[in-house]
Amino acid sequence: MKHEVWRWGEGREIWIYPEGEDAKSSLPDVTAGVKAAVHDAEVDLKVVTLSQPPDYTREAFSKALVQRKGETCFDYWRYAKTLARVRTEAHADVLVMNHSFRSPYWAHGMAVFDYGLAVVAGMWGDTHTAKHEAIHVLGYHMHDDFPLWVLGYPDEPWGCFLTGRPREEGLMVLLGKDDHLRQRTRAALREFWNVLQPT
Ligand SMILES: [Zn+2]
Repeated sequence: MKHEVWRWGEGREIWIYPEGEDAKSSLPDVTAGVKAAVHDAEVDLKVVTLSQPPDYTREAFSKALVQRKGETCFDYWRYAKTLARVRTEAHADVLVMNHSFRSPYWAHGMAVFDYGLAVVAGMWGDTHTAKHEAIHVLGYHMHDDFPLWVLGYPDEPWGCFLTGRPREEGLMVLLGKDDHLRQRTRAALREFWNVLQPT
């Protein structure tokens, strides 16, 4: 029976797979990053790594490849929408592929909870990028360098609020390098998953 796409968490699994031989070399790092995200977010999900993409992705992948200024690029939304139609089991997907994104062209990865889909560009397929995208797919869509602060967390000091300058550390800073999941992010995810999967 077809499930609603956003209910992927009910299957309690995240599947990671490569598209193309070149992407395979990034699999160990991407897997480590996704596992670190699940661990830090304290969400009860199993991470499964496949050496080949599942059959249902074939149509989605071919539709997602588009031309942009003479280069073959990957269209995240086309892939996500096709996947939403053909994926029959409840789980999230993490695709590793070796193309630039169509838009934004500079992205290292893209991920949306509603589709249960993260895509990592293999050339950026390191642990940090995979962990960052996995936190997005778990439901945290913000970037922590946006001007939004929640006072009361130790890593949200008044100084930051008063100067209007965001702190630059943290996993969820756009194109950052720090792997540390800030307390506010962790709390947001914990509350979100408590609502999704009450214990
Ligand atoms: Zn991001």
